[in-house]
Amino acid sequence: MIDRINFLKDEINKHNYNYYVEDNPTISDFEYDKMFAELKKLEEEHPELQTPDSPTQRVGSISEKFLPYKHKYRLYSLDNTYNYEDLESWYEKISQNFNDKVELVCELKIDGLAIALTYENGIFTTGVTRGDGVTGENITTNLKTVKAIPLKLFKDTNVEVRGEIYMPKTSFEKLNEENILKGEKPFANPRNAAAGSIRQLDSTITAKRDLSIFVYNSSFENIENPPKTHYESMQRLKELGFKINPNIRLCHDISEAIDYCKEWENKRFELDYATDGVVIKVNNLAYQEELGFTARAPKWATAFKFPPEEATTDLLDIELNIGKTGAVTPVAILTPVNLAGSTVARASLHNFDEIKRLDARIGDKVVIKKAAEIIPKVIKVEESEKHFELPAYVPPQTCPVCGSELVTRAEEVNLYCSNPNCPALLKSKLEFWVSGDAMDIDNIGPGIIEQLFNKNLVKNPIDLYKLSKEDFFKLDNVKEKSANNMYESIQASKTRSLSRFLTALNIKHVGKETAEIIANEFKTLDNLYHVNSVDLTAIPNIGSKIAIEIREYFNDEKTLKYLDEFKALGINPIQEVEQVSDILKGKTVVLTGTLQNMTRDEAQSVIKSLGGKPSSSVSKNTSFVIAGENPGSKFDKAKNLGVIILTEDEFLEMIKTNSIPFEKEENK
Ligand code: NAD
Repeated sequence: MIDRINFLKDEINKHNYNYYVEDNPTISDFEYDKMFAELKKLEEEHPELQTPDSPTQRVGSISEKFLPYKHKYRLYSLDNTYNYEDLESWYEKISQNFNDKVELVCELKIDGLAIALTYENGIFTTGVTRGDGVTGENITTNLKTVKAIPLKLFKDTNVEVRGEIYMPKTSFEKLNEENILKGEKPFANPRNAAAGSIRQLDSTITAKRDLSIFVYNSSFENIENPPKTHYESMQRLKELGFKINPNIRLCHDISEAIDYCKEWENKRFELDYATDGVVIKVNNLAYQEELGFTARAPKWATAFKFPPEEATTDLLDIELNIGKTGAVTPVAILTPVNLAGSTVARASLHNFDEIKRLDARIGDKVVIKKAAEIIPKVIKVEESEKHFELPAYVPPQTCPVCGSELVTRAEEVNLYCSNPNCPALLKSKLEFWVSGDAMDIDNIGPGIIEQLFNKNLVKNPIDLYKLSKEDFFKLDNVKEKSANNMYESIQASKTRSLSRFLTALNIKHVGKETAEIIANEFKTLDNLYHVNSVDLTAIPNIGSKIAIEIREYFNDEKTLKYLDEFKALGINPIQEVEQVSDILKGKTVVLTGTLQNMTRDEAQSVIKSLGGKPSSSVSKNTSFVIAGENPGSKFDKAKNLGVIILTEDEFLEMIKTNSIPFEKEENK
């Protein structure tokens, strides 16, 4: 039992990270919700095994990409169910607390990213992600680029509102088309596209994305005649200038609410935004207060989630795809079919073991699923129409592209092409090199890579940097302007960060996150040459498996020669601190004494990340001195010159709130 609980906790935590921090889920919401419901049930049956760190006791996650911001009002998740009986039981349970019939409000559950917006005297001041509910990420600058968020309300009200940032489906599809053309990974669904766009470090990128908001909740402060019901509060929000979803409905009981859910189960595909269910809320605000919250969700609301979409279609063929690691993966080619509002002609078959397990044969009818709009996959063969007379699928033994032998690797189910110079593998590596996750080279997508490769202009990433402007004219339909753009994009990528360069190198076990950790630690490429295991395993989150791969990579003379070639072409990446805010823009900050919560280096990185300049000496031009324990002579000098002195706590507060302490700022 405890093993199962621990397994579920670990799995859910891993998927929480992928979903909330990386905006890159690897399983469907339906599968996630199934695991979550199982964990909840087991914990209910064995309360002694429930721990405070269980995912059932918390909401979301917070990344370190932005400055943390403590919410004034806690933000919660919602309990959810996929069946109507649970809704009835929920209604029955809450109704027991009251003598009269409990009115409900039904709203569409917008599949986006929860945020809280604060308005002071009608002016938008702060916008924060939900994060873990207690602390979110301060993304005010990015939110100011969302046109549907009013910067000034129609009245001078003090209010905090909660809402969902979303990307319209048509804009999501357009963005994905552009990303594919550029060779970047498409977003799995509109939710991830919205979350990825709003959590950009560069707000000019956010501004280019088509994002909108529906506001669904509020806390008014000091207003006359406060609203008594949720429905009334939503009308007030509308009057203030907020965008609320028009499909809100007041229901007198749970059966009316269930009718609403049934109505929207199909109608939702007509909308230009993704909705994954219906939120049912108690209308009376006094009742809401009485019902209260559990550790992670209100008791006065629940979500009905729409079932995942499935469709049946013909398996026409099984195509083989060769990825950047050389893994050969099967892809189902299907008779195009409509699924959850879009046409699907290809679906994932994962690996050859999966084809065997499904016993999928070319010519069979297969069921495909697209839960919460993740890339569709084949989930089963239609039993009633099974074609046993068709030949069973036989996995290939040789590479479909270069004809080399396919091999397996220890502890892996995938088959790999054994030829390191397989053209498909080289092309996949190049496509990855230019992609948004790696060196982020604009204007060069898979189509261009294909041509560069086939015309023998580029065989590996180094060749990209040897291309002249004229080389691009050798490609089909390329005119002066696009040749110029492609050439310039490659040149611009020469200064990409060390973390991007390490990701692009495609070292085994080193994905984006690990590359970031390594780059932040080693700072320059040179520092990684001949790196040893001791230095690597001392880094938090770097396990021995990863350490071995990195050590082997950077101790191989052939690799080092390859990296030297990059350096000779002017690519010698370093890891700069990414700027997350500009509150210290133009300010010079000096540190003195011993800090308790961070090292000197870390504090200097934070100052840089806030746009400030760390300096080692105090002068009248110093903006702040941050004084730790036992400060030195810089402290006295600052005092004599009247320079603002902050304690370490005030510095931490500044990081947390992303603002400079007000009174001290005024002193100056
Ligand atoms: P949730 O998305 O199921 O429900 C809570 C959220 O609904 C609120 O925070 C709010 O943002 C949103 N919402 C949308 N419209 C609303 C409205 N009208 N009124 C109130 N709230 C509204 O819960 P969650 O905690 O954000 O995420 C948990 C869910 O996310 C899981 O149930 C799962 O479906 C999904 N998830 C998936 C993975 C994965 O790997 N696929 C991982 C983690 C979470």
